[in-house]
Amino acid sequence: MSASINPVPTSNSFLRLKKQIERKVGEAIGDYNMIGNGDTVMVCVSGGKDSYTLLSCLLALRERAPVDFRIVAMNLDQRQPGFPDHVLPAYFAALGVEHLIVTEDTYSIVKDKIPAGKTTCSLCSRLRRGIIYRTAREIGATRIALGHHRDDILETLFLNMFFGGRLKAMPPKLLSDDGQHMVIRPLAYCAEADIARFARAMEFPIIPCNLCGSQENAQRQQVKAMLQEWGRNYPGRIESLATALKNVVPSHLADERLFDFAGLERGNTPLGAGEGDTVFDPPTFAATPIPVPVFPRSIPS
Ligand code: SF4
Repeated sequence: MSASINPVPTSNSFLRLKKQIERKVGEAIGDYNMIGNGDTVMVCVSGGKDSYTLLSCLLALRERAPVDFRIVAMNLDQRQPGFPDHVLPAYFAALGVEHLIVTEDTYSIVKDKIPAGKTTCSLCSRLRRGIIYRTAREIGATRIALGHHRDDILETLFLNMFFGGRLKAMPPKLLSDDGQHMVIRPLAYCAEADIARFARAMEFPIIPCNLCGSQENAQRQQVKAMLQEWGRNYPGRIESLATALKNVVPSHLADERLFDFAGLERGNTPLGAGEGDTVFDPPTFAATPIPVPVFPRSIPS
């Protein structure tokens, strides 16, 4: 597997795609105040299409950003069998980006602790998170950038709803539990299909993601397939779902911690536009492929 840097494609369609992805990354960074002047951004690069795209976009955006920030590309070599450990160091060096490779044999720990046939991902992820946080502390990183994209976020939303009973996705910006680390997801607005097209055109030296031998979580596969089917058959639905995450109306959900339903009384100040008195009106939408709920004309007796 070669890690040389291929010339950036120059076709109009590629340049449009590049511009579109960089614009979305710039928007997400701006909307969530992800990166500021003087930040050190540790970009976690696994060797997959998403993290290569993330690094490439951040490097491009840094060139024209109004703020000055440092980028350090970081790869965690988990000593998985067959991991081509020469690829990323050579790639980073050819790119001329500051980088570090952290080698920790989490693979053996996971194999040792988890009985054969059981899913290994949760322990593996916990170990990886600990190493990433420790490394960020050691290099003084003020931001940890991960390559999760819009579709990862939506998959997580449905996984939590279907299997966890929670309305919860994956935030574009997250403070670690100890308050010490800021995790950012600059690809939060980018569609996986666009990232895949970009990565193919850029000919990134992709490292396979199944080296640990673990199967992708069956529930996630199921949700991914559902979203892909919606994406194929109902144009606009995935975009609408992503927009919905930014348009939450707590008074029309049922979480009394987010909205004081118990304290709601006649005579209270009316709610803001879109939040209030629509109880008897069927929602109407602009021309949209999303099916509009049909309400009965009268309540059957
Ligand atoms: S797929 Fe493998 S490397 Fe990825 S989290 Fe699961 S066990 Fe770890």
